[in-house]
Amino acid sequence: MQSQAKTTSPLVAGSGYTSWGRYPRVSHEAVFRVDWAQQIFPLLQQAAPGSLLPYGLGRSYGDLCLNADRSLVDCSHLNRFLAADFQEGWVRCEAGVNLADILKVIVPKGWFLPVTPGTKFVTLGGAIANDVHGKNHHRAGTFGCHVRRLALCRSDAEVVICGPSENQGIFNATIGGLGLTGVILWAEIQLKAIQGIGIDLDVLPFASLEKFLALTVESDQDYEYTVAWLDCLTKGKQRGIFFRGNHSAAPFPKIRAHQPPKVPFDFPAWTLNRFTMKALNAGYYWRNQHKKNRTLVAYDPFFYPLDSIRQWNRVYGKQGFLQYQCVVQENSFAAFEQLMELISQSGMGSFLAVLKRFGSRKSPGLLSFPRPGLTLALDFPMHGEATLRLLETLDAVILKGGGAIYPAKDARMSPAMFEASFPAWRKLLPYIDKKLSSSLWRRVTEGLLP
Ligand SMILES: Cc1cc2nc3c(=O)[nH]c(=O)nc-3n(C[C@H](O)[C@H](O)[C@H](O)COP(=O)(O)OP(=O)(O)OC[C@H]3O[C@@H](n4cnc5c(N)ncnc54)[C@H](O)[C@@H]3O)c2cc1C
Repeated sequence: MQSQAKTTSPLVAGSGYTSWGRYPRVSHEAVFRVDWAQQIFPLLQQAAPGSLLPYGLGRSYGDLCLNADRSLVDCSHLNRFLAADFQEGWVRCEAGVNLADILKVIVPKGWFLPVTPGTKFVTLGGAIANDVHGKNHHRAGTFGCHVRRLALCRSDAEVVICGPSENQGIFNATIGGLGLTGVILWAEIQLKAIQGIGIDLDVLPFASLEKFLALTVESDQDYEYTVAWLDCLTKGKQRGIFFRGNHSAAPFPKIRAHQPPKVPFDFPAWTLNRFTMKALNAGYYWRNQHKKNRTLVAYDPFFYPLDSIRQWNRVYGKQGFLQYQCVVQENSFAAFEQLMELISQSGMGSFLAVLKRFGSRKSPGLLSFPRPGLTLALDFPMHGEATLRLLETLDAVILKGGGAIYPAKDARMSPAMFEASFPAWRKLLPYIDKKLSSSLWRRVTEGLLP
């Protein structure tokens, strides 16, 4: 490697590094941009305890990727492909490579990501640290189920290579390890073979939660991908649109790359109010209700509809927004209905409510979020105390229903809620690198650590 790889990394100004929800707003003491893996070990060694946190592309919604008044290590420039085998279908990439770039390389070779979240602008390191899930959770489990090996840089050991059968303890702690077990340098992932770039998609409207459940139970067997959009602002019965799809072998026209449009400025706070959101929900429902049942669509709009507008988070204005993603056990249907009623009564929920039934494939991750049950994710524009109070009311329902909150989306759950969501969280403690910490970690463990 060139000698420049060994030079001290430049210090860049700590402002401008936010999470996707842009709440909370914090300042960082410094951000270290690393371009070479070799820069990380000296950085960790020299750091004060609890002073650093790896940062990917900041697509986590709350404060999981923030380290208020301390420092970040920006890993997004560790973006080299290191090795690949397109016979066996695996790639090894540095942790800052994002899923969009991996897709560009693997799709023309007949391979796809084994699991993908709803945006492709996340790094490999970020996908592992949150053990992200996608529309195929009922089949494929989480991202961590497909990691063959990874390399971790820790302040007490320059590089640890780990995997499902090698240093398994630290591997399991790192999958869904919230970026606290060390800086991931590279990871090797198993890919999924595909025969074409299109998706055979069914679009099915439903008019009650019972109907949604029936559709998902019926579809999970034969469809690789299932997900629903839910109108959470209607009173009474829940209506929504159910999407199910499989990779298609049918030829699909070549897709021309284009730069998606961008939201150019922060919208005023009043833009998304009860009336505009109700109208958006109703419009979306009616538009999809009349769609053709079976269509062949490109994979990009199917998996990443939100990526078609850059910086869409600006529509929530300067005050930002919170995403609430929870899971409740399937037999806690009453809890789920109560949740929906509270959201609908509040009139605060937004346009983007996503509903999915998780499957039972277990992740190796100690703190992995998905578990069998129904998961709901939706945005709430940040209106201060009123928003925070509503989300606490929802937490109480989740607690009673034995559910959990997803840290990747969270900016405000209490230590009690964290403990209820992840009863095994203390098992992570021996694996945490003492030089690392995050805003979320300090918040959710407040009063719980000696
Ligand atoms: C539009 C949208 C849709 C989404 N859909 C889904 C979804 O369907 N399913 C889902 O699970 N999530 C979803 N997410 C959340 C997103 O996938 C996760 O928050 C993901 O972890 C973000 O990755 P990132 O690279 O931006 O990492 P960041 O947000 O910057 O960081 C996330 C975590 O990774 C750690 N980290 C980053 N790089 C490294 C590294 N090199 N070594 C160690 N730790 C590291 C950070 O410390 C932090 O703890 C969505 C987000 C958006 C904005």
